[in-house]
Amino acid sequence: MNCIKMLSSIIAVCLLLTGCGVKHDTPLMKQDNGTELSGNSGTGMEDGHSDKDDMKETDEENKENDEVRNAESEQSGKETGENEKSDKSRSSSEKNGEDSKSEQKQSETEQNNEANQNKAKGKEAQKNTDYTNKQEQIDGELILKGFTICVDAGHGIADYSKMEAVAPNSQETKPAFAAGTRGINQTEEQLNLKVAKKLEQKLKELGADVYMTRTEAKTEMSNIDRAEFANSINADLMIRIHADGSSNKNTRGISMLVPTNDYINNASLVEKSERAGKIILEEVIARTGAVNRGIIKRSDLTGFNWSKVPVILIEMGFMSNPEEDRLLETDEYQNKIVQGIVNGMVKYFIN
Ligand SMILES: [Zn+2]
Repeated sequence: MNCIKMLSSIIAVCLLLTGCGVKHDTPLMKQDNGTELSGNSGTGMEDGHSDKDDMKETDEENKENDEVRNAESEQSGKETGENEKSDKSRSSSEKNGEDSKSEQKQSETEQNNEANQNKAKGKEAQKNTDYTNKQEQIDGELILKGFTICVDAGHGIADYSKMEAVAPNSQETKPAFAAGTRGINQTEEQLNLKVAKKLEQKLKELGADVYMTRTEAKTEMSNIDRAEFANSINADLMIRIHADGSSNKNTRGISMLVPTNDYINNASLVEKSERAGKIILEEVIARTGAVNRGIIKRSDLTGFNWSKVPVILIEMGFMSNPEEDRLLETDEYQNKIVQGIVNGMVKYFIN
């Protein structure tokens, strides 16, 4: 009797457990970007399938909204030639004298010593990853000597009421400056500048001529001015540093914006920009492990349409996504982004 009771208890427990398994599995879903979401985070998620579809739709909508936001935030402003000049001379004066050359040499020596020590310790196996090898190769020499790169820290504190033409032959105007998005502890303007300065330093260490569109929070350089600044130095590449925001806090990942030939009558510029964008995005994703939102072609960005040199815009992640926002606050993650950009540029210019 007891045996029968026990058996039926076991069967009952088994049935219960099987039921639990289904219940727990059902509400789990994957977002478009591959992030697993728990059904508990949504509302009324009884049917995983339709929720998934809803989520997809929401994501599409958000993507559209994001693009609109991007369009809104990609605005431009105006700046006098004087300011351009002062920015240029600031960049030039920062452009290395003997001091930074000797610093470079010193850091090269340190890197070489470190590499030798590691070899001596028999760490080849550990170092035998693609990235470590590539990094040694990249860090070891002035591999970007002779290349001129314009680094544009997106946004800046400015007069947000000004308007300017979206393209040289367009009647359409957009605000000349936009405030950008923000995270919990920093604004996009602040983040962009931090990353831009880190990138400037890394690129200079590799011998590149680097010009910054701004080096402080305040700016009078509109997006037209920034494009024309890159044109005036005949940059081999202009990279615009930005971060994203979305009304959906789950949206995350890194994307690369590149120009189209809608307004730009220069097939080579468009082709080079796309090639640089793809390579650099790939390297940044490999470094950060972030969700890859891909290449986005944009014809509506003033800063692209006035450009006569290859130009790309990286959206480094969503400051509206709590996890990504926290990452974007850290030097470690910012350095990963910078290293990815640098590796991508080396690949684009050298290979
Ligand atoms: Zn932005």
